Amino acid sequence: MRKIFITVYVVSIALIMSGCNQFDSLVNKIPFMNQSDGGHGFKENEEIVENDEPSVEEEEIASDILTLEAQFFNEIEEVNGKLTIQNPLNILALVNKEFSLPEQYAPEDLVRPKVPFSFGDLDIEKSYMRKEAAEHLELLFKAAEKANIEIFAVSGYRSYDRQVDVFAAKASQVGEQAAATVVAVPGFSEHQTGLAMDISSRSINLELIEKFEETKEGIWLADNAYKFGFILRYPKGKEDITGYQYEPWHFRYVGIEVAKLMYEKDLTLEEYFNIVEKI
Ligand SMILES: [Zn+2]
Repeated sequence: MRKIFITVYVVSIALIMSGCNQFDSLVNKIPFMNQSDGGHGFKENEEIVENDEPSVEEEEIASDILTLEAQFFNEIEEVNGKLTIQNPLNILALVNKEFSLPEQYAPEDLVRPKVPFSFGDLDIEKSYMRKEAAEHLELLFKAAEKANIEIFAVSGYRSYDRQVDVFAAKASQVGEQAAATVVAVPGFSEHQTGLAMDISSRSINLELIEKFEETKEGIWLADNAYKFGFILRYPKGKEDITGYQYEPWHFRYVGIEVAKLMYEKDLTLEEYFNIVEKI
Protein backbone atom coordinates (compact mmCIF):
# COMPACT_ATOMS: atom_id res chain seq x y z
CA MET A 1 0.00 0.00 0.00
CA ARG A 2 2.67 2.47 1.01
CA LYS A 3 4.73 1.77 -2.04
CA ILE A 4 1.76 2.31 -4.33
CA PHE A 5 0.86 5.49 -2.54
CA ILE A 6 4.35 6.83 -2.91
CA THR A 7 4.29 5.95 -6.58
CA VAL A 8 1.13 8.01 -6.98
CA TYR A 9 2.79 10.88 -5.20
CA VAL A 10 5.88 10.70 -7.34
CA VAL A 11 3.83 10.55 -10.50
CA SER A 12 1.96 13.64 -9.43
CA ILE A 13 5.22 15.47 -8.77
CA ALA A 14 6.36 14.42 -12.21
CA LEU A 15 3.15 15.72 -13.73
CA ILE A 16 3.44 19.06 -12.00
CA MET A 17 7.07 19.32 -12.95
CA SER A 18 6.54 18.37 -16.54
CA GLY A 19 5.03 21.81 -17.03
CA CYS A 20 8.29 23.35 -15.92
CA ASN A 21 11.12 24.17 -18.33
CA GLN A 22 13.73 23.19 -15.85
CA PHE A 23 12.24 19.71 -15.47
CA ASP A 24 15.19 17.88 -16.99
CA SER A 25 17.79 19.56 -14.87
CA LEU A 26 15.68 19.07 -11.78
CA VAL A 27 15.34 15.39 -12.50
CA ASN A 28 19.08 15.08 -12.32
CA LYS A 29 19.14 16.78 -8.95
CA ILE A 30 16.51 14.49 -7.43
CA PRO A 31 18.25 11.18 -6.80
CA PHE A 32 15.29 8.80 -7.12
CA MET A 33 13.78 10.22 -10.30
CA ASN A 34 16.44 9.09 -12.73
CA GLN A 35 16.87 5.60 -11.40
CA SER A 36 15.73 2.62 -13.35
CA ASP A 37 15.18 0.70 -10.14
CA GLY A 38 11.72 2.00 -9.31
CA GLY A 39 11.54 0.75 -5.77
CA HIS A 40 14.88 1.61 -4.28
CA GLY A 41 15.17 5.34 -4.53
CA PHE A 42 11.78 6.05 -3.00
CA LYS A 43 12.81 4.92 0.42
CA GLU A 44 14.82 8.01 1.26
CA ASN A 45 11.81 10.17 0.51
CA GLU A 46 9.23 8.33 2.52
CA GLU A 47 9.30 10.79 5.37
CA ILE A 48 8.47 13.70 3.12
CA VAL A 49 5.51 11.83 1.69
CA GLU A 50 4.16 10.82 5.06
CA ASN A 51 4.31 14.31 6.50
CA ASP A 52 2.67 15.77 3.46
CA GLU A 53 -1.07 16.22 3.37
CA PRO A 54 -2.24 14.10 0.41
CA SER A 55 -4.58 15.79 -2.03
CA VAL A 56 -8.17 14.54 -2.27
CA GLU A 57 -7.33 12.84 -5.54
CA GLU A 58 -4.42 11.01 -4.01
CA GLU A 59 -6.50 9.87 -1.07
CA GLU A 60 -9.13 8.50 -3.40
CA ILE A 61 -6.59 6.52 -5.36
CA ALA A 62 -4.93 5.22 -2.22
CA SER A 63 -8.19 4.12 -0.61
CA ASP A 64 -9.28 2.40 -3.80
CA ILE A 65 -6.47 -0.08 -3.52
CA LEU A 66 -7.99 -2.91 -1.51
CA THR A 67 -5.93 -5.86 -0.45
CA LEU A 68 -6.80 -9.21 1.06
CA GLU A 69 -4.68 -12.11 2.21
CA ALA A 70 -4.57 -15.11 -0.13
CA GLN A 71 -6.21 -17.43 2.41
CA PHE A 72 -9.51 -15.59 2.00
CA PHE A 73 -9.78 -16.33 -1.72
CA ASN A 74 -11.51 -19.46 -3.02
CA GLU A 75 -9.19 -22.34 -3.83
CA ILE A 76 -10.96 -24.09 -6.68
CA GLU A 77 -10.69 -27.54 -8.18
CA GLU A 78 -12.95 -29.15 -10.70
CA VAL A 79 -14.75 -32.14 -9.16
CA ASN A 80 -17.31 -34.09 -11.20
CA GLY A 81 -17.60 -31.18 -13.59
CA LYS A 82 -18.24 -28.68 -10.79
CA LEU A 83 -15.89 -25.90 -9.74
CA THR A 84 -15.54 -26.89 -6.11
CA ILE A 85 -14.19 -24.84 -3.23
CA GLN A 86 -11.28 -26.60 -1.51
CA ASN A 87 -11.07 -24.24 1.48
CA PRO A 88 -14.73 -24.11 2.56
CA LEU A 89 -13.92 -23.03 6.12
CA ASN A 90 -12.87 -19.65 4.75
CA ILE A 91 -15.16 -17.07 6.30
CA LEU A 92 -15.18 -15.20 2.94
CA ALA A 93 -15.94 -18.29 0.83
CA LEU A 94 -17.58 -17.16 -2.40
CA VAL A 95 -20.39 -19.63 -3.00
CA ASN A 96 -22.60 -18.86 -5.97
CA LYS A 97 -23.88 -20.39 -9.19
CA GLU A 98 -20.28 -20.79 -10.37
CA PHE A 99 -18.54 -22.12 -7.24
CA SER A 100 -19.91 -24.95 -5.13
CA LEU A 101 -19.03 -26.43 -1.77
CA PRO A 102 -17.80 -30.03 -1.53
CA GLU A 103 -20.64 -32.52 -1.11
CA GLN A 104 -19.28 -33.82 2.15
CA TYR A 105 -18.60 -30.40 3.63
CA ALA A 106 -20.30 -29.65 6.92
CA PRO A 107 -18.85 -27.04 9.28
CA GLU A 108 -17.77 -28.47 12.61
CA ASP A 109 -18.50 -25.42 14.72
CA LEU A 110 -22.25 -25.16 14.20
CA VAL A 111 -24.15 -23.73 17.18
CA ARG A 112 -27.69 -22.54 17.74
CA PRO A 113 -27.70 -18.75 18.14
CA LYS A 114 -29.79 -17.41 21.01
CA VAL A 115 -32.23 -15.41 18.91
CA PRO A 116 -35.97 -15.76 18.27
CA PHE A 117 -36.79 -18.20 15.48
CA SER A 118 -39.89 -18.23 13.30
CA PHE A 119 -40.42 -21.87 14.39
CA GLY A 120 -39.91 -21.27 18.10
CA ASP A 121 -37.63 -23.51 20.10
CA LEU A 122 -37.49 -26.40 17.64
CA ASP A 123 -33.94 -27.71 17.56
CA ILE A 124 -33.64 -28.30 13.84
CA GLU A 125 -30.83 -28.06 11.31
CA LYS A 126 -31.80 -24.68 9.91
CA SER A 127 -31.51 -23.01 13.32
CA TYR A 128 -27.75 -23.55 13.30
CA MET A 129 -24.86 -21.31 12.19
CA ARG A 130 -21.11 -21.37 12.54
CA LYS A 131 -20.01 -20.06 15.93
CA GLU A 132 -18.53 -16.74 14.83
CA ALA A 133 -21.55 -15.95 12.68
CA ALA A 134 -23.95 -17.05 15.43
CA GLU A 135 -22.29 -14.75 17.98
CA HIS A 136 -22.54 -11.81 15.62
CA LEU A 137 -26.14 -12.67 14.78
CA GLU A 138 -26.95 -12.46 18.50
CA LEU A 139 -25.38 -8.99 18.63
CA LEU A 140 -27.36 -7.95 15.57
CA PHE A 141 -30.62 -9.13 17.13
CA LYS A 142 -29.81 -7.38 20.42
CA ALA A 143 -29.20 -4.12 18.60
CA ALA A 144 -32.47 -4.58 16.71
CA GLU A 145 -34.34 -5.12 19.96
CA LYS A 146 -32.82 -1.95 21.38
CA ALA A 147 -34.11 -0.08 18.34
CA ASN A 148 -37.59 -1.59 18.85
CA ILE A 149 -37.22 -3.78 15.79
CA GLU A 150 -38.64 -7.28 16.18
CA ILE A 151 -37.05 -9.77 13.81
CA PHE A 152 -36.97 -13.55 13.56
CA ALA A 153 -34.39 -15.94 12.21
CA VAL A 154 -36.02 -18.24 9.66
CA SER A 155 -33.36 -20.38 8.00
CA GLY A 156 -29.64 -20.78 8.60
CA TYR A 157 -27.48 -23.82 7.95
CA ARG A 158 -28.60 -26.18 5.19
CA SER A 159 -26.69 -29.44 4.76
CA TYR A 160 -25.90 -30.93 1.38
CA ASP A 161 -28.39 -33.75 2.00
CA ARG A 162 -31.13 -31.28 2.86
CA GLN A 163 -30.39 -29.37 -0.35
CA VAL A 164 -30.80 -32.62 -2.27
CA ASP A 165 -34.24 -33.13 -0.66
CA VAL A 166 -35.34 -29.53 -1.24
CA PHE A 167 -34.20 -29.62 -4.85
CA ALA A 168 -35.82 -32.99 -5.55
CA ALA A 169 -39.11 -31.81 -4.05
CA LYS A 170 -39.12 -28.73 -6.26
CA ALA A 171 -38.01 -30.65 -9.35
CA SER A 172 -40.86 -33.12 -8.92
CA GLN A 173 -43.28 -30.19 -9.11
CA VAL A 174 -41.82 -28.08 -11.89
CA GLY A 175 -39.02 -30.11 -13.49
CA GLU A 176 -35.28 -29.88 -12.88
CA GLN A 177 -34.57 -26.92 -15.11
CA ALA A 178 -37.27 -24.72 -13.60
CA ALA A 179 -36.33 -25.88 -10.10
CA ALA A 180 -32.78 -24.65 -10.65
CA THR A 181 -34.04 -21.10 -11.10
CA VAL A 182 -35.72 -20.94 -7.69
CA VAL A 183 -33.83 -23.43 -5.53
CA ALA A 184 -30.08 -23.87 -5.36
CA VAL A 185 -28.66 -26.93 -7.06
CA PRO A 186 -27.20 -29.10 -4.25
CA GLY A 187 -23.77 -27.83 -3.23
CA PHE A 188 -24.39 -24.34 -4.56
CA SER A 189 -26.39 -22.97 -1.64
CA GLU A 190 -24.67 -20.39 0.50
CA HIS A 191 -26.64 -21.77 3.43
CA GLN A 192 -24.28 -24.78 3.44
CA THR A 193 -21.50 -22.48 4.68
CA GLY A 194 -23.33 -22.00 7.98
CA LEU A 195 -22.68 -18.29 7.50
CA ALA A 196 -26.05 -17.24 6.09
CA MET A 197 -29.36 -16.53 7.79
CA ASP A 198 -32.74 -15.67 6.31
CA ILE A 199 -34.55 -13.15 8.49
CA SER A 200 -38.17 -12.00 8.55
CA SER A 201 -40.74 -10.18 10.67
CA ARG A 202 -44.31 -10.53 11.91
CA SER A 203 -45.35 -7.65 9.66
CA ILE A 204 -45.08 -10.05 6.68
CA ASN A 205 -46.12 -13.17 8.62
CA LEU A 206 -42.52 -14.41 8.91
CA GLU A 207 -42.40 -15.14 5.20
CA LEU A 208 -39.37 -14.70 2.95
CA ILE A 209 -40.78 -12.32 0.40
CA GLU A 210 -39.61 -9.23 -1.44
CA LYS A 211 -42.07 -7.09 0.50
CA PHE A 212 -39.70 -7.35 3.46
CA GLU A 213 -37.77 -4.43 1.94
CA GLU A 214 -40.70 -2.11 2.70
CA THR A 215 -41.08 -3.11 6.33
CA LYS A 216 -39.36 -1.12 9.05
CA GLU A 217 -37.58 -4.35 10.04
CA GLY A 218 -36.25 -4.92 6.52
CA ILE A 219 -35.15 -1.31 6.23
CA TRP A 220 -33.42 -1.41 9.61
CA LEU A 221 -31.57 -4.60 8.69
CA ALA A 222 -30.45 -3.26 5.31
CA ASP A 223 -29.05 -0.20 7.08
CA ASN A 224 -27.47 -1.85 10.11
CA ALA A 225 -26.54 -5.49 9.45
CA TYR A 226 -23.08 -4.54 8.20
CA LYS A 227 -22.15 -3.16 11.63
CA PHE A 228 -22.30 -6.73 12.89
CA GLY A 229 -20.52 -8.30 9.92
CA PHE A 230 -23.50 -9.22 7.75
CA ILE A 231 -24.14 -8.22 4.16
CA LEU A 232 -27.35 -8.23 2.17
CA ARG A 233 -26.07 -10.91 -0.17
CA TYR A 234 -28.46 -10.55 -3.11
CA PRO A 235 -29.25 -6.86 -3.55
CA LYS A 236 -31.71 -5.27 -5.92
CA GLY A 237 -30.22 -4.25 -9.27
CA LYS A 238 -27.28 -6.66 -8.97
CA GLU A 239 -29.12 -9.80 -10.03
CA ASP A 240 -26.87 -10.22 -13.07
CA ILE A 241 -23.80 -10.18 -10.86
CA THR A 242 -24.98 -12.43 -8.04
CA GLY A 243 -27.05 -14.72 -10.26
CA TYR A 244 -29.91 -14.49 -7.79
CA GLN A 245 -33.13 -12.58 -7.59
CA TYR A 246 -33.31 -9.78 -5.03
CA GLU A 247 -33.57 -11.30 -1.55
CA PRO A 248 -33.99 -8.62 1.11
CA TRP A 249 -34.17 -11.38 3.76
CA HIS A 250 -30.89 -13.22 3.08
CA PHE A 251 -27.91 -12.08 5.16
CA ARG A 252 -24.42 -13.49 4.94
CA TYR A 253 -21.70 -13.15 7.56
CA VAL A 254 -18.33 -11.94 6.20
CA GLY A 255 -16.89 -10.23 9.29
CA ILE A 256 -17.28 -6.61 10.31
CA GLU A 257 -14.35 -5.14 8.38
CA VAL A 258 -15.30 -6.55 4.99
CA ALA A 259 -19.04 -6.01 5.57
CA LYS A 260 -18.45 -2.34 6.33
CA LEU A 261 -16.31 -1.88 3.25
CA MET A 262 -18.82 -3.64 1.00
CA TYR A 263 -21.66 -1.60 2.47
CA GLU A 264 -19.85 1.71 2.01
CA LYS A 265 -18.75 0.92 -1.53
CA ASP A 266 -22.02 -0.78 -2.45
CA LEU A 267 -20.37 -4.00 -3.53
CA THR A 268 -21.62 -7.56 -3.78
CA LEU A 269 -19.27 -10.35 -2.74
CA GLU A 270 -18.60 -11.07 -6.42
CA GLU A 271 -17.67 -7.43 -7.07
CA TYR A 272 -15.51 -7.29 -3.98
CA PHE A 273 -13.41 -10.23 -5.16
CA ASN A 274 -13.15 -8.66 -8.61
CA ILE A 275 -11.44 -5.55 -7.29
CA VAL A 276 -9.55 -6.76 -4.25
CA GLU A 277 -5.87 -7.46 -4.69
CA LYS A 278 -4.47 -10.76 -3.41
CA ILE A 279 -1.46 -10.38 -1.07
ZN1 LIG B 1 -31.27 -17.54 2.14
